[in-house]
Amino acid sequence: MRLLVIEDEPTLLTTLAARLREDGYAVDIAANGRDGHHIGAEYPIDLAIVDLGLPDITGTEVIKRWRASGLAFPVLILTARGSWEDKVAGLELGADDYLVKPFHTEELLARVRALMRRAAGWSDPKLRCGPFVLDTSAKSFTVDDKAVELTAFEYKVLEYLMLHAGRVVSKTELTDHLYEEDTDRDSNVLEVIVGRLRRKLDPERTLNPVETSRGQGYRFRFERAASRPDV
Ligand code: CA
Repeated sequence: MRLLVIEDEPTLLTTLAARLREDGYAVDIAANGRDGHHIGAEYPIDLAIVDLGLPDITGTEVIKRWRASGLAFPVLILTARGSWEDKVAGLELGADDYLVKPFHTEELLARVRALMRRAAGWSDPKLRCGPFVLDTSAKSFTVDDKAVELTAFEYKVLEYLMLHAGRVVSKTELTDHLYEEDTDRDSNVLEVIVGRLRRKLDPERTLNPVETSRGQGYRFRFERAASRPDV
């Protein structure tokens, strides 16, 4: 999942970005409204965290411009204590949630996870697809109630595929949403990760949860339901 953080306080921006990366997100950053607006408009962002008080154009103006051009990714706004008018304006313009500064990073992370899930149409923090359950709060995964250990990158790939279960996700879409700009993107790495996931999720090779759609990408074959599809 790829996040954008727009914040003009350098220390807050750096610590927030570091903490989000630690949690497995790809993070693009901007210290002013214009740069932030540009990144959100040009790159495949899954969610933006926007400080409202910025040195050039305000956070509300940034959100207004994105929404006017049809960009619908979730936006979490950061406001100063006491500026309830800004908060209301931000929400009216299309922000999805807000946090008042100073806030606890754990609360921000919980809100980010909830917004991402809801944007993909899930309300429960546990993504259940047939026998596969990904717990987005605990960052754990089980198959038929048995825990399966995943590396951080395996988890990221699986989370994206399960959030979009039933739909074909192209390799380009996966890399766009898993990597920040200016990072080395090797699609061979993705193939290796998907291969490892298949062995971990389906050691007996009976379920084939991650299907390859020739020339198109990958599809998590079990949709969000309790029953198993025909194998
Ligand atoms: Ca500020």
